[in-house]
Amino acid sequence: MFDIAIIGGGPAGASAALYTAKAGKKTLLIDNDKGMTRRALMKNYYGIEEIDGPTMVDTGLKQAENFGAILVKETAQNLKQNGDTFTVTTDGGNYEAKYVILTTGASVSFAEDIGIKTKDGIEPRIKKVVDVDADGRTSMEGVWAAGTCAGVSVHAIITAGDGAKVAINVISEMNGERYVDHDILES
Ligand SMILES: Cc1cc2nc3c(=O)[nH]c(=O)nc-3n(C[C@H](O)[C@H](O)[C@H](O)COP(=O)(O)OP(=O)(O)OC[C@H]3O[C@@H](n4cnc5c(N)ncnc54)[C@H](O)[C@@H]3O)c2cc1C
Repeated sequence: MFDIAIIGGGPAGASAALYTAKAGKKTLLIDNDKGMTRRALMKNYYGIEEIDGPTMVDTGLKQAENFGAILVKETAQNLKQNGDTFTVTTDGGNYEAKYVILTTGASVSFAEDIGIKTKDGIEPRIKKVVDVDADGRTSMEGVWAAGTCAGVSVHAIITAGDGAKVAINVISEMNGERYVDHDILES
């Protein structure tokens, strides 16, 4: 049983996964590596002068794994609610989780297939997005969404930040108090 299953391993998903795993939550990251970020060259990511998309994606996945997230290179195909938990079915197996975060980039077909409410997107070339509240909750209780699929501006720093934001909201809900993750530089 995972605490959190995250579907999509681009900047939004890997960022969410590194936060949840670092917080000690048993985290599953499901990704089929068909995202848009591999095609990008980022010169506008605060704090990093320049980074190519493949390096960003691979480093993000490694960071999440280093904190304990389990990465499976599979395609999520279905999601079923069983009381308080979920079963995610992929082309490689079934996984149980208490919470789910959708970070599927430009595609909302998985969300639509499982009956989650979507709406028209407003960002260029993003036709549909998952309908989320300000915290990232979708129309299905226990399922959250972040990044491009949740309608934020299509820039890596924003999608990564949104993944972190939604992860912190999920961790806070699980813990019953607001969560902060700060490491301190030794003087
Ligand atoms: C050509 C190009 C140039 C760009 N240049 C810049 C730039 O200069 N600066 C900038 O800030 N941004 C740039 N961007 C935008 C940037 O890449 C995105 O804003 C951001 O990285 C998207 O992150 P994401 O995690 O939401 O989506 P993605 O990176 O698309 O990740 C989504 C992931 O979910 C996976 N997935 C989807 N469905 C499933 C499923 N059912 N099962 C398993 N996995 C699934 C996909 O395979 C993918 O790995 C560019 C984009 C493009 C296309």
